[in-house]
Amino acid sequence: MTDPVLMVVDGDPGSLATLEGTLRRRYGHDYLIIGEATPGTALGRLRELRAAGRPVAVVLAAAAIAEPPAADFLAEARSVQPAAKRVLVIPRGGPAAPSLRVPVPLVADRQAATPVLRAIAHGMIDSYLPAPGAGRDEGFHRAVSELLEEWAHDAAPVLPAVRIIAGQRSARAHELRDALARSSIPYVFHAADSAAGRSWLAQAGQDGSALPVLLTYTGEVLVDPPNDRVAAVFGLASLPAATVDVAIIGAGPAGLSAAVYAASEGLSTLLLEREAIGGQAGSSSLIRNYLGFPRGISGASLATRAFEQAWSFGAIPSMAGPVTALQPTPGGFTLHLAGVRVSHARSVLITTGVSYRKLDAPGLDALLGAGVFYGATTSEHNAFAGEPVFIAGGANSAGQAAVNLARYAHQVTIVIRGESLAARMSQYLIDEITATANIKVRTSTQIAAAEGAGKLEALTLTDTRTGSTQTVPAAALVILIGAVPHTDWLPPAIARDEHGFILTGSDLPTSANPAPGWTQPRPLETSMPGVFAAGDVRHGSVKRVASAVGEGSIATTQLTQYLQAQARNP
Ligand SMILES: Cc1cc2nc3c(=O)[nH]c(=O)nc-3n(C[C@H](O)[C@H](O)[C@H](O)COP(=O)(O)OP(=O)(O)OC[C@H]3O[C@@H](n4cnc5c(N)ncnc54)[C@H](O)[C@@H]3O)c2cc1C
Repeated sequence: MTDPVLMVVDGDPGSLATLEGTLRRRYGHDYLIIGEATPGTALGRLRELRAAGRPVAVVLAAAAIAEPPAADFLAEARSVQPAAKRVLVIPRGGPAAPSLRVPVPLVADRQAATPVLRAIAHGMIDSYLPAPGAGRDEGFHRAVSELLEEWAHDAAPVLPAVRIIAGQRSARAHELRDALARSSIPYVFHAADSAAGRSWLAQAGQDGSALPVLLTYTGEVLVDPPNDRVAAVFGLASLPAATVDVAIIGAGPAGLSAAVYAASEGLSTLLLEREAIGGQAGSSSLIRNYLGFPRGISGASLATRAFEQAWSFGAIPSMAGPVTALQPTPGGFTLHLAGVRVSHARSVLITTGVSYRKLDAPGLDALLGAGVFYGATTSEHNAFAGEPVFIAGGANSAGQAAVNLARYAHQVTIVIRGESLAARMSQYLIDEITATANIKVRTSTQIAAAEGAGKLEALTLTDTRTGSTQTVPAAALVILIGAVPHTDWLPPAIARDEHGFILTGSDLPTSANPAPGWTQPRPLETSMPGVFAAGDVRHGSVKRVASAVGEGSIATTQLTQYLQAQARNP
Protein backbone atom coordinates (compact mmCIF):
# COMPACT_ATOMS: atom_id res chain seq x y z
CA MET A 1 0.00 0.00 0.00
CA THR A 2 1.23 3.52 -0.84
CA ASP A 3 2.05 5.82 2.06
CA PRO A 4 -0.54 8.49 2.86
CA VAL A 5 0.46 12.11 2.24
CA LEU A 6 1.16 15.00 4.61
CA MET A 7 1.05 18.22 2.58
CA VAL A 8 2.51 21.57 3.59
CA VAL A 9 1.64 24.81 1.77
CA ASP A 10 3.71 27.91 2.52
CA GLY A 11 4.78 30.79 0.26
CA ASP A 12 7.88 31.56 2.34
CA PRO A 13 10.70 29.25 1.21
CA GLY A 14 12.39 29.38 4.65
CA SER A 15 9.35 28.44 6.73
CA LEU A 16 8.22 25.90 4.09
CA ALA A 17 11.59 24.18 4.45
CA THR A 18 11.35 24.26 8.28
CA LEU A 19 7.83 22.75 8.25
CA GLU A 20 8.71 20.11 5.69
CA GLY A 21 11.89 19.19 7.56
CA THR A 22 10.10 18.99 10.92
CA LEU A 23 7.48 16.66 9.49
CA ARG A 24 9.94 14.57 7.46
CA ARG A 25 12.19 13.89 10.46
CA ARG A 26 9.28 12.56 12.55
CA TYR A 27 6.85 11.07 10.00
CA GLY A 28 8.96 10.52 6.86
CA HIS A 29 9.07 6.78 7.32
CA ASP A 30 5.29 6.27 7.22
CA TYR A 31 4.05 9.26 5.22
CA LEU A 32 5.04 10.99 2.00
CA ILE A 33 5.75 14.65 2.85
CA ILE A 34 4.89 17.05 0.00
CA GLY A 35 5.63 20.80 0.06
CA GLU A 36 3.88 23.32 -2.20
CA ALA A 37 4.50 27.06 -2.49
CA THR A 38 1.01 28.21 -3.57
CA PRO A 39 -2.63 27.17 -3.00
CA GLY A 40 -3.07 26.80 -6.77
CA THR A 41 -0.30 24.24 -7.19
CA ALA A 42 -1.39 22.54 -3.95
CA LEU A 43 -4.97 22.08 -5.21
CA GLY A 44 -3.64 20.70 -8.50
CA ARG A 45 -1.49 18.25 -6.58
CA LEU A 46 -4.39 17.22 -4.33
CA ARG A 47 -6.49 16.47 -7.43
CA GLU A 48 -3.66 14.39 -8.94
CA LEU A 49 -3.36 12.45 -5.68
CA ARG A 50 -7.11 11.82 -5.64
CA ALA A 51 -7.01 10.59 -9.24
CA ALA A 52 -4.15 8.26 -8.30
CA GLY A 53 -6.14 6.94 -5.30
CA ARG A 54 -3.45 8.12 -2.89
CA PRO A 55 -4.81 9.00 0.58
CA VAL A 56 -4.05 12.45 2.00
CA ALA A 57 -4.02 12.50 5.80
CA VAL A 58 -3.27 16.13 6.68
CA VAL A 59 -2.95 19.43 4.77
CA LEU A 60 -1.17 22.23 6.66
CA ALA A 61 -1.30 25.77 5.25
CA ALA A 62 0.58 28.81 6.56
CA ALA A 63 -1.81 31.49 7.80
CA ALA A 64 0.32 34.10 5.97
CA ILE A 65 -0.92 32.86 2.58
CA ALA A 66 -3.06 35.67 1.17
CA GLU A 67 -4.14 34.74 -2.38
CA PRO A 68 -6.55 33.10 -1.73
CA PRO A 69 -6.55 33.32 2.11
CA ALA A 70 -5.21 30.13 3.69
CA ALA A 71 -8.55 29.28 5.35
CA ASP A 72 -10.36 29.58 1.98
CA PHE A 73 -7.78 27.32 0.39
CA LEU A 74 -8.24 24.77 3.18
CA ALA A 75 -12.02 24.97 2.79
CA GLU A 76 -11.61 24.21 -0.93
CA ALA A 77 -9.18 21.39 -0.18
CA ARG A 78 -12.07 19.64 1.60
CA SER A 79 -14.00 19.25 -1.64
CA VAL A 80 -10.96 17.56 -3.24
CA GLN A 81 -9.87 15.44 -0.26
CA PRO A 82 -12.85 15.23 2.16
CA ALA A 83 -11.14 12.90 4.63
CA ALA A 84 -7.93 14.96 5.02
CA LYS A 85 -7.51 16.96 8.24
CA ARG A 86 -6.96 20.65 7.43
CA VAL A 87 -4.72 22.77 9.64
CA LEU A 88 -3.89 26.46 9.66
CA VAL A 89 -0.28 27.06 10.77
CA ILE A 90 -0.08 30.36 12.60
CA PRO A 91 3.13 32.21 13.43
CA ARG A 92 4.68 31.97 16.85
CA GLY A 93 5.21 35.23 18.61
CA GLY A 94 7.23 36.55 21.50
CA PRO A 95 9.88 34.84 23.55
CA ALA A 96 7.29 33.19 25.84
CA ALA A 97 5.52 31.49 22.96
CA PRO A 98 7.53 28.25 22.76
CA SER A 99 6.16 27.18 26.12
CA LEU A 100 2.55 27.86 25.10
CA ARG A 101 0.34 25.70 22.89
CA VAL A 102 -1.46 28.86 21.72
CA PRO A 103 0.94 31.64 20.57
CA VAL A 104 0.97 34.82 22.60
CA PRO A 105 -0.45 37.12 19.86
CA LEU A 106 -3.46 34.85 19.47
CA VAL A 107 -4.28 34.94 23.18
CA ALA A 108 -3.50 38.62 23.65
CA ASP A 109 -5.22 39.94 20.56
CA ARG A 110 -8.71 38.52 20.17
CA GLN A 111 -9.24 40.58 17.04
CA ALA A 112 -6.26 38.98 15.33
CA ALA A 113 -7.50 35.60 16.51
CA THR A 114 -11.00 36.12 15.14
CA PRO A 115 -10.36 34.86 11.57
CA VAL A 116 -8.78 31.67 12.95
CA LEU A 117 -11.60 30.99 15.41
CA ARG A 118 -14.17 31.87 12.72
CA ALA A 119 -12.53 29.46 10.29
CA ILE A 120 -12.89 26.66 12.88
CA ALA A 121 -16.47 27.59 13.75
CA HIS A 122 -17.40 27.57 10.06
CA GLY A 123 -15.76 24.23 9.51
CA MET A 124 -13.24 25.67 7.02
CA ILE A 125 -10.39 24.14 9.02
CA ASP A 126 -10.18 21.27 11.49
CA SER A 127 -7.53 22.82 13.71
CA TYR A 128 -4.82 25.46 14.04
CA LEU A 129 -1.25 25.03 15.21
CA PRO A 130 1.58 27.36 16.09
CA ALA A 131 4.48 26.89 13.65
CA PRO A 132 7.00 24.42 15.09
CA GLY A 133 9.84 25.83 17.14
CA ALA A 134 13.46 24.85 16.70
CA GLY A 135 14.49 21.32 17.60
CA ARG A 136 12.07 18.80 19.05
CA ASP A 137 8.79 20.66 19.43
CA GLU A 138 6.75 18.00 21.22
CA GLY A 139 3.67 20.22 21.53
CA PHE A 140 3.56 20.53 17.73
CA HIS A 141 4.06 16.80 17.25
CA ARG A 142 1.44 15.87 19.81
CA ALA A 143 -1.13 17.93 17.92
CA VAL A 144 -0.09 16.42 14.56
CA SER A 145 -0.22 12.88 16.02
CA GLU A 146 -3.72 13.49 17.38
CA LEU A 147 -4.88 14.63 13.94
CA LEU A 148 -3.31 11.56 12.36
CA GLU A 149 -5.04 9.34 14.91
CA GLU A 150 -8.44 10.90 14.11
CA TRP A 151 -7.77 10.60 10.38
CA ALA A 152 -6.73 6.95 10.75
CA HIS A 153 -9.88 6.21 12.77
CA ASP A 154 -12.06 7.24 9.82
CA ALA A 155 -9.79 5.94 7.04
CA ALA A 156 -9.67 2.26 6.15
CA PRO A 157 -7.53 0.59 8.84
CA VAL A 158 -4.29 -1.11 7.87
CA LEU A 159 -5.07 -4.06 10.16
CA PRO A 160 -8.84 -4.47 10.49
CA ALA A 161 -10.11 -6.45 13.48
CA VAL A 162 -13.26 -7.35 11.56
CA ARG A 163 -14.24 -7.61 7.89
CA ILE A 164 -17.94 -7.21 7.16
CA ILE A 165 -19.31 -8.54 3.89
CA ALA A 166 -22.90 -7.52 3.15
CA GLY A 167 -25.20 -5.75 0.73
CA GLN A 168 -24.14 -2.14 0.10
CA ARG A 169 -27.14 -0.68 1.96
CA SER A 170 -27.96 -3.56 4.32
CA ALA A 171 -29.67 -2.26 7.48
CA ARG A 172 -28.06 -4.88 9.75
CA ALA A 173 -24.62 -4.16 8.28
CA HIS A 174 -25.23 -0.47 9.00
CA GLU A 175 -25.98 -1.28 12.67
CA LEU A 176 -22.85 -3.42 12.96
CA ARG A 177 -20.63 -0.84 11.26
CA ASP A 178 -21.99 1.90 13.48
CA ALA A 179 -21.47 -0.14 16.65
CA LEU A 180 -17.88 -1.03 15.64
CA ALA A 181 -17.03 2.54 14.60
CA ARG A 182 -18.45 3.90 17.86
CA SER A 183 -16.46 1.37 19.85
CA SER A 184 -13.28 2.29 17.89
CA ILE A 185 -12.90 -1.28 16.64
CA PRO A 186 -11.18 -1.09 13.23
CA TYR A 187 -13.25 -2.77 10.54
CA VAL A 188 -13.40 -2.96 6.76
CA PHE A 189 -16.62 -3.21 4.81
CA HIS A 190 -16.82 -5.09 1.48
CA ALA A 191 -19.95 -5.00 -0.67
CA ALA A 192 -21.00 -8.60 -1.24
CA ASP A 193 -21.13 -8.11 -5.01
CA SER A 194 -17.65 -6.51 -5.27
CA ALA A 195 -14.57 -8.49 -6.30
CA ALA A 196 -13.10 -8.15 -2.78
CA GLY A 197 -16.43 -9.14 -1.19
CA ARG A 198 -16.72 -12.26 -3.33
CA SER A 199 -13.11 -13.18 -2.62
CA TRP A 200 -13.52 -12.81 1.19
CA LEU A 201 -16.78 -14.79 1.09
CA ALA A 202 -14.98 -17.59 -0.74
CA GLN A 203 -12.15 -17.54 1.83
CA ALA A 204 -14.77 -17.78 4.59
CA GLY A 205 -16.41 -20.75 2.88
CA GLN A 206 -19.68 -18.82 2.40
CA ASP A 207 -21.83 -18.62 -0.73
CA GLY A 208 -23.34 -15.23 0.20
CA SER A 209 -26.90 -16.52 0.60
CA ALA A 210 -26.84 -15.47 4.28
CA LEU A 211 -25.43 -12.00 5.01
CA PRO A 212 -23.83 -10.11 6.67
CA VAL A 213 -20.78 -12.33 7.10
CA LEU A 214 -18.12 -11.21 9.60
CA LEU A 215 -14.51 -12.39 9.49
CA THR A 216 -12.74 -11.62 12.74
CA TYR A 217 -9.03 -11.14 13.46
CA THR A 218 -9.16 -14.45 15.35
CA GLY A 219 -10.18 -16.23 12.14
CA GLU A 220 -13.79 -16.79 13.20
CA VAL A 221 -16.57 -16.59 10.61
CA LEU A 222 -19.84 -15.20 12.00
CA VAL A 223 -23.01 -15.19 9.92
CA ASP A 224 -25.44 -12.39 10.88
CA PRO A 225 -24.35 -12.55 14.55
CA PRO A 226 -26.17 -10.79 17.41
CA ASN A 227 -24.25 -7.95 19.11
CA ASP A 228 -23.24 -10.03 22.14
CA ARG A 229 -21.67 -12.65 19.84
CA VAL A 230 -19.49 -9.95 18.24
CA ALA A 231 -18.66 -8.60 21.72
CA ALA A 232 -17.54 -12.08 22.79
CA VAL A 233 -14.79 -11.99 20.11
CA PHE A 234 -13.28 -9.04 21.98
CA GLY A 235 -13.73 -10.61 25.44
CA LEU A 236 -16.61 -8.26 26.25
CA ALA A 237 -19.46 -10.65 26.91
CA SER A 238 -18.67 -12.26 30.26
CA LEU A 239 -20.29 -11.56 33.62
CA PRO A 240 -18.71 -11.85 37.10
CA ALA A 241 -20.01 -14.75 39.19
CA ALA A 242 -19.83 -12.79 42.47
CA THR A 243 -22.13 -9.98 43.56
CA VAL A 244 -20.55 -6.62 42.65
CA ASP A 245 -20.77 -3.39 44.68
CA VAL A 246 -22.31 -1.53 41.77
CA ALA A 247 -23.78 -2.44 38.42
CA ILE A 248 -23.86 0.48 36.00
CA ILE A 249 -26.35 0.04 33.17
CA GLY A 250 -25.36 1.94 30.02
CA ALA A 251 -21.84 2.89 28.88
CA GLY A 252 -22.47 6.41 27.61
CA PRO A 253 -20.60 9.36 29.18
CA ALA A 254 -22.57 9.09 32.46
CA GLY A 255 -21.94 5.34 32.83
CA LEU A 256 -18.29 5.58 31.78
CA SER A 257 -17.63 8.41 34.21
CA ALA A 258 -19.34 6.50 37.04
CA ALA A 259 -17.30 3.40 36.17
CA VAL A 260 -14.04 5.39 36.36
CA TYR A 261 -14.87 6.92 39.73
CA ALA A 262 -16.47 3.82 41.28
CA ALA A 263 -13.63 1.51 40.23
CA SER A 264 -10.94 4.04 41.19
CA GLU A 265 -12.48 4.28 44.66
CA GLY A 266 -12.21 0.55 45.11
CA LEU A 267 -15.80 -0.54 44.42
CA SER A 268 -16.20 -3.73 42.42
CA THR A 269 -17.86 -2.30 39.33
CA LEU A 270 -19.74 -3.95 36.48
CA LEU A 271 -20.44 -1.79 33.41
CA LEU A 272 -23.22 -3.22 31.25
CA GLU A 273 -23.83 -2.01 27.69
CA ARG A 274 -26.15 -3.38 25.04
CA GLU A 275 -24.86 -1.73 21.87
CA ALA A 276 -21.70 0.37 21.67
CA ILE A 277 -19.36 2.02 24.15
CA GLY A 278 -19.88 5.79 24.27
CA GLY A 279 -23.66 5.99 23.94
CA GLN A 280 -24.95 8.94 21.97
CA ALA A 281 -21.70 10.82 22.46
CA GLY A 282 -19.91 8.03 20.58
CA SER A 283 -21.88 9.00 17.48
CA SER A 284 -20.82 12.65 17.62
CA SER A 285 -18.03 13.33 15.13
CA LEU A 286 -16.71 16.39 16.97
CA ILE A 287 -17.54 17.41 20.52
CA ARG A 288 -16.35 20.97 20.84
CA ASN A 289 -17.77 21.97 24.20
CA TYR A 290 -16.21 19.37 26.51
CA LEU A 291 -13.75 20.81 29.01
CA GLY A 292 -10.09 20.31 28.16
CA PHE A 293 -10.40 19.81 24.41
CA PRO A 294 -10.14 23.32 22.97
CA ARG A 295 -10.02 22.04 19.42
CA GLY A 296 -12.71 19.41 19.99
CA ILE A 297 -12.56 15.63 20.23
CA SER A 298 -14.52 12.98 18.35
CA GLY A 299 -17.08 11.14 20.46
CA ALA A 300 -15.48 7.81 19.56
CA SER A 301 -12.04 9.00 20.79
CA LEU A 302 -13.51 10.33 24.03
CA ALA A 303 -15.41 7.08 24.59
CA THR A 304 -12.36 4.90 23.86
CA ARG A 305 -10.21 6.87 26.29
CA ALA A 306 -12.88 6.78 29.01
CA PHE A 307 -13.44 3.07 28.47
CA GLU A 308 -9.71 2.33 28.78
CA GLN A 309 -9.56 4.49 31.91
CA ALA A 310 -12.48 2.63 33.53
CA TRP A 311 -10.97 -0.73 32.56
CA SER A 312 -7.52 0.25 33.89
CA PHE A 313 -9.06 1.02 37.31
CA GLY A 314 -10.63 -2.44 37.32
CA ALA A 315 -14.18 -1.91 36.07
CA ILE A 316 -15.58 -5.02 34.37
CA PRO A 317 -17.16 -4.15 31.02
CA SER A 318 -19.77 -6.50 29.60
CA MET A 319 -21.90 -6.40 26.48
CA ALA A 320 -23.66 -9.63 27.38
CA GLY A 321 -26.95 -8.16 26.22
CA PRO A 322 -29.40 -5.44 27.18
CA VAL A 323 -30.58 -5.38 30.78
CA THR A 324 -34.24 -6.34 30.55
CA ALA A 325 -35.33 -6.43 34.20
CA LEU A 326 -34.25 -5.24 37.64
CA GLN A 327 -35.48 -6.84 40.84
CA PRO A 328 -34.69 -6.04 44.48
CA THR A 329 -33.42 -9.13 46.28
CA PRO A 330 -32.08 -9.64 49.83
CA GLY A 331 -28.81 -7.69 50.09
CA GLY A 332 -29.10 -6.04 46.70
CA PHE A 333 -30.52 -6.41 43.23
CA THR A 334 -30.75 -8.98 40.46
CA LEU A 335 -30.39 -7.86 36.87
CA HIS A 336 -31.68 -9.95 34.00
CA LEU A 337 -29.75 -9.69 30.75
CA ALA A 338 -31.36 -10.37 27.38
CA GLY A 339 -33.92 -12.42 29.29
CA VAL A 340 -31.55 -15.32 29.99
CA ARG A 341 -28.51 -14.36 32.05
CA VAL A 342 -28.46 -12.77 35.49
CA SER A 343 -26.09 -10.65 37.50
CA HIS A 344 -26.16 -9.49 41.13
CA ALA A 345 -25.21 -6.13 42.60
CA ARG A 346 -25.44 -4.34 45.96
CA SER A 347 -26.36 -1.09 44.23
CA VAL A 348 -27.39 -0.06 40.73
CA LEU A 349 -26.83 3.05 38.63
CA ILE A 350 -29.09 3.54 35.61
CA THR A 351 -27.38 5.53 32.84
CA THR A 352 -29.33 4.20 29.88
CA GLY A 353 -29.75 7.55 28.10
CA VAL A 354 -32.27 8.21 25.37
CA SER A 355 -33.19 7.27 21.79
CA TYR A 356 -34.44 9.48 19.05
CA ARG A 357 -38.15 9.98 18.57
CA LYS A 358 -39.50 8.21 15.49
CA LEU A 359 -40.74 10.02 12.43
CA ASP A 360 -43.97 8.62 11.09
CA ALA A 361 -44.33 8.74 7.31
CA PRO A 362 -45.09 6.04 4.71
CA GLY A 363 -42.02 4.26 3.41
CA LEU A 364 -39.61 5.33 6.16
CA ASP A 365 -39.57 2.14 8.23
CA ALA A 366 -38.93 -0.05 5.19
CA LEU A 367 -35.85 1.99 4.33
CA LEU A 368 -34.42 2.12 7.86
CA GLY A 369 -30.65 1.71 7.60
CA ALA A 370 -30.92 1.77 3.81
CA GLY A 371 -30.67 5.53 3.46
CA VAL A 372 -32.89 6.40 6.47
CA PHE A 373 -31.03 6.79 9.77
CA TYR A 374 -31.92 7.81 13.30
CA GLY A 375 -29.19 9.81 15.02
CA ALA A 376 -26.04 11.05 13.37
CA THR A 377 -23.65 8.22 12.58
CA THR A 378 -19.90 8.31 12.25
CA SER A 379 -19.60 5.61 9.66
CA GLU A 380 -21.76 6.70 6.75
CA HIS A 381 -20.42 10.09 5.69
CA ASN A 382 -18.36 8.80 2.77
CA ALA A 383 -21.21 6.69 1.46
CA PHE A 384 -23.14 9.81 0.43
CA ALA A 385 -20.33 11.78 -1.19
CA GLY A 386 -21.71 13.97 -3.96
CA GLU A 387 -25.37 13.08 -3.21
CA PRO A 388 -28.38 14.98 -1.83
CA VAL A 389 -28.85 14.43 1.91
CA PHE A 390 -31.76 15.53 4.14
CA ILE A 391 -31.86 16.06 7.90
CA ALA A 392 -35.14 16.14 9.81
CA GLY A 393 -34.86 18.15 13.02
CA GLY A 394 -33.92 21.58 14.27
CA ALA A 395 -31.91 21.08 17.48
CA ASN A 396 -28.12 21.17 17.92
CA SER A 397 -27.58 17.53 16.98
CA ALA A 398 -29.30 18.22 13.63
CA GLY A 399 -27.08 21.27 13.08
CA GLN A 400 -23.93 19.32 13.81
CA ALA A 401 -24.98 16.48 11.53
CA ALA A 402 -25.67 18.98 8.71
CA VAL A 403 -22.25 20.60 9.04
CA ASN A 404 -20.50 17.23 9.06
CA LEU A 405 -22.43 15.76 6.16
CA ALA A 406 -21.93 18.94 4.10
CA ARG A 407 -18.26 17.97 3.83
CA TYR A 408 -19.19 15.02 1.70
CA ALA A 409 -22.70 15.47 0.32
CA HIS A 410 -23.49 17.56 -2.74
CA GLN A 411 -26.33 19.29 -0.88
CA VAL A 412 -27.63 19.01 2.69
CA THR A 413 -31.21 20.14 3.37
CA ILE A 414 -32.43 20.65 6.93
CA VAL A 415 -36.20 20.11 7.12
CA ILE A 416 -38.07 21.65 10.08
CA ARG A 417 -41.74 22.05 10.86
CA GLY A 418 -41.17 25.37 12.63
CA GLU A 419 -40.55 28.75 11.06
CA SER A 420 -36.89 29.17 12.01
CA LEU A 421 -33.91 27.33 13.46
CA ALA A 422 -33.53 29.91 16.23
CA ALA A 423 -36.09 28.24 18.51
CA ARG A 424 -33.95 25.16 19.28
CA MET A 425 -30.45 25.56 17.84
CA SER A 426 -27.38 27.36 19.27
CA GLN A 427 -26.44 30.54 17.44
CA TYR A 428 -22.90 29.31 16.66
CA LEU A 429 -24.36 26.40 14.71
CA ILE A 430 -26.89 28.62 12.91
CA ASP A 431 -23.97 30.86 11.88
CA GLU A 432 -22.00 27.87 10.64
CA ILE A 433 -24.98 26.61 8.66
CA THR A 434 -25.59 30.04 7.14
CA ALA A 435 -21.95 30.21 6.10
CA THR A 436 -21.91 26.76 4.50
CA ALA A 437 -22.88 27.10 0.84
CA ASN A 438 -24.23 23.59 0.37
CA ILE A 439 -26.58 23.58 3.40
CA LYS A 440 -30.18 24.68 2.78
CA VAL A 441 -32.94 25.06 5.41
CA ARG A 442 -36.58 24.31 4.52
CA THR A 443 -38.86 25.74 7.21
CA SER A 444 -42.58 24.93 7.69
CA THR A 445 -41.98 21.65 5.92
CA GLN A 446 -42.92 18.08 6.79
CA ILE A 447 -41.55 14.82 5.42
CA ALA A 448 -44.64 13.16 3.97
CA ALA A 449 -43.22 9.99 2.39
CA ALA A 450 -40.05 8.14 1.44
CA GLU A 451 -39.56 5.87 -1.55
CA GLY A 452 -36.92 3.75 -3.18
CA ALA A 453 -36.25 0.23 -4.31
CA GLY A 454 -34.09 -1.27 -1.56
CA LYS A 455 -32.53 2.11 -0.78
CA LEU A 456 -33.82 5.63 -0.31
CA GLU A 457 -34.21 7.41 -3.65
CA ALA A 458 -36.77 10.18 -3.08
CA LEU A 459 -38.63 12.09 -0.38
CA THR A 460 -41.98 13.80 -0.63
CA LEU A 461 -42.04 17.11 1.25
CA THR A 462 -45.18 19.02 2.22
CA ASP A 463 -45.20 22.77 2.73
CA THR A 464 -47.41 23.12 5.81
CA ARG A 465 -48.36 26.71 4.93
CA THR A 466 -49.69 26.00 1.45
CA GLY A 467 -50.28 22.23 1.57
CA SER A 468 -48.30 21.83 -1.68
CA THR A 469 -46.09 18.74 -2.04
CA GLN A 470 -42.86 18.17 -3.90
CA THR A 471 -40.96 14.93 -4.52
CA VAL A 472 -37.19 15.42 -4.49
CA PRO A 473 -34.26 13.04 -5.08
CA ALA A 474 -32.65 11.96 -1.77
CA ALA A 475 -29.83 9.55 -0.99
CA ALA A 476 -30.06 9.84 2.80
CA LEU A 477 -32.39 11.08 5.49
CA VAL A 478 -30.97 11.56 8.98
CA ILE A 479 -33.74 11.90 11.59
CA LEU A 480 -32.94 13.87 14.75
CA ILE A 481 -36.29 14.94 16.18
CA GLY A 482 -36.12 14.41 19.91
CA ALA A 483 -35.50 11.73 22.43
CA VAL A 484 -37.25 8.95 24.35
CA PRO A 485 -35.60 7.58 27.53
CA HIS A 486 -34.61 3.90 27.72
CA THR A 487 -36.72 3.08 30.74
CA ASP A 488 -39.55 0.84 29.52
CA TRP A 489 -37.84 -2.21 31.06
CA LEU A 490 -37.86 -0.80 34.59
CA PRO A 491 -40.25 -2.01 37.32
CA PRO A 492 -43.15 0.31 38.28
CA ALA A 493 -41.50 0.86 41.67
CA ILE A 494 -39.01 3.15 39.95
CA ALA A 495 -40.96 6.39 39.50
CA ARG A 496 -40.81 8.23 36.18
CA ASP A 497 -42.30 11.41 34.74
CA GLU A 498 -44.99 11.44 32.04
CA HIS A 499 -42.34 11.05 29.30
CA GLY A 500 -40.61 8.13 31.00
CA PHE A 501 -37.60 10.04 32.43
CA ILE A 502 -36.52 8.77 35.86
CA LEU A 503 -37.37 10.90 38.88
CA THR A 504 -34.66 11.28 41.52
CA GLY A 505 -34.07 13.06 44.83
CA SER A 506 -36.26 16.09 45.45
CA ASP A 507 -38.20 15.51 42.20
CA LEU A 508 -39.73 12.37 43.70
CA PRO A 509 -43.26 12.66 45.01
CA THR A 510 -43.27 11.74 48.70
CA SER A 511 -45.75 8.95 47.91
CA ALA A 512 -43.13 7.31 45.68
CA ASN A 513 -40.91 6.46 48.62
CA PRO A 514 -41.83 3.01 49.82
CA ALA A 515 -38.99 2.17 52.19
CA PRO A 516 -39.82 2.27 55.89
CA GLY A 517 -37.70 4.87 57.66
CA TRP A 518 -36.28 6.13 54.36
CA THR A 519 -37.49 9.66 54.04
CA GLN A 520 -34.67 11.51 52.38
CA PRO A 521 -33.61 10.15 49.00
CA ARG A 522 -30.15 11.29 47.89
CA PRO A 523 -30.22 13.78 44.97
CA LEU A 524 -29.60 11.12 42.30
CA GLU A 525 -31.39 8.27 44.08
CA THR A 526 -34.58 6.89 42.55
CA SER A 527 -37.75 5.81 44.36
CA MET A 528 -36.09 2.41 44.87
CA PRO A 529 -33.43 2.81 47.62
CA GLY A 530 -29.99 1.78 46.33
CA VAL A 531 -30.90 2.42 42.70
CA PHE A 532 -29.55 5.67 41.27
CA ALA A 533 -29.94 7.40 37.91
CA ALA A 534 -27.65 9.80 36.05
CA GLY A 535 -27.30 11.47 32.66
CA ASP A 536 -29.87 12.00 29.92
CA VAL A 537 -32.23 9.33 31.29
CA ARG A 538 -32.87 11.38 34.42
CA HIS A 539 -35.78 13.83 34.63
CA GLY A 540 -34.48 17.39 34.43
CA SER A 541 -31.01 16.45 33.21
CA VAL A 542 -29.06 18.78 30.95
CA LYS A 543 -28.53 16.86 27.72
CA ARG A 544 -24.79 17.36 27.45
CA VAL A 545 -21.66 15.24 27.67
CA ALA A 546 -20.19 17.32 30.51
CA SER A 547 -23.41 17.12 32.54
CA ALA A 548 -23.65 13.35 32.06
CA VAL A 549 -20.00 12.95 33.11
CA GLY A 550 -20.57 15.16 36.16
CA GLU A 551 -23.69 13.27 37.22
CA GLY A 552 -21.88 9.94 36.80
CA SER A 553 -19.22 11.05 39.25
CA ILE A 554 -21.72 12.53 41.75
CA ALA A 555 -23.86 9.37 41.62
CA THR A 556 -20.77 7.35 42.56
CA THR A 557 -20.31 9.39 45.74
CA GLN A 558 -23.96 8.97 46.67
CA LEU A 559 -24.06 5.23 46.07
CA THR A 560 -20.86 4.88 48.11
CA GLN A 561 -22.71 6.61 50.97
CA TYR A 562 -25.61 4.22 50.44
CA LEU A 563 -23.29 1.17 50.56
CA GLN A 564 -21.60 2.47 53.72
CA ALA A 565 -25.00 3.01 55.38
CA GLN A 566 -26.07 -0.50 54.34
CA ALA A 567 -22.86 -1.94 55.80
CA ARG A 568 -23.59 -0.16 59.10
CA ASN A 569 -27.28 -1.18 59.18
CA PRO A 570 -27.70 -4.21 56.96
C1 LIG B 1 -25.07 13.20 17.24
C2 LIG B 1 -24.95 13.76 18.61
C3 LIG B 1 -24.06 14.78 18.86
C4 LIG B 1 -23.94 15.32 20.14
N1 LIG B 1 -23.02 16.29 20.35
C5 LIG B 1 -22.86 16.81 21.58
C6 LIG B 1 -21.87 17.82 21.81
O1 LIG B 1 -21.17 18.25 20.90
N2 LIG B 1 -21.74 18.27 23.07
C7 LIG B 1 -22.51 17.82 24.11
O2 LIG B 1 -22.30 18.27 25.23
N3 LIG B 1 -23.44 16.87 23.91
C8 LIG B 1 -23.65 16.36 22.68
N4 LIG B 1 -24.60 15.40 22.47
C9 LIG B 1 -25.43 14.95 23.61
C10 LIG B 1 -24.65 13.93 24.46
O3 LIG B 1 -24.05 12.98 23.61
C11 LIG B 1 -25.56 13.26 25.48
O4 LIG B 1 -26.09 14.26 26.32
C12 LIG B 1 -24.79 12.24 26.32
O5 LIG B 1 -24.25 11.22 25.49
C13 LIG B 1 -25.69 11.60 27.37
O6 LIG B 1 -24.95 10.62 28.04
P1 LIG B 1 -25.64 9.43 28.85
O7 LIG B 1 -24.52 8.58 29.35
O8 LIG B 1 -26.58 9.97 29.81
O9 LIG B 1 -26.52 8.63 27.80
P2 LIG B 1 -26.21 7.98 26.39
O10 LIG B 1 -25.07 8.66 25.76
O11 LIG B 1 -27.50 7.96 25.68
O12 LIG B 1 -25.76 6.50 26.74
C14 LIG B 1 -26.68 5.54 27.20
C15 LIG B 1 -26.15 4.15 26.95
O13 LIG B 1 -26.98 3.20 27.60
C16 LIG B 1 -27.13 2.05 26.76
N5 LIG B 1 -28.36 1.34 27.13
C17 LIG B 1 -29.65 1.77 26.98
N6 LIG B 1 -30.51 0.85 27.46
C18 LIG B 1 -29.77 -0.20 27.91
C19 LIG B 1 -30.08 -1.44 28.51
N7 LIG B 1 -31.35 -1.80 28.76
N8 LIG B 1 -29.06 -2.27 28.84
C20 LIG B 1 -27.76 -1.91 28.62
N9 LIG B 1 -27.42 -0.73 28.04
C21 LIG B 1 -28.40 0.12 27.70
C22 LIG B 1 -27.20 2.67 25.37
O14 LIG B 1 -26.90 1.70 24.37
C23 LIG B 1 -26.15 3.76 25.47
O15 LIG B 1 -24.87 3.32 25.11
C24 LIG B 1 -24.75 14.82 21.20
C25 LIG B 1 -25.65 13.79 20.95
C26 LIG B 1 -25.76 13.27 19.68
C27 LIG B 1 -26.71 12.15 19.42
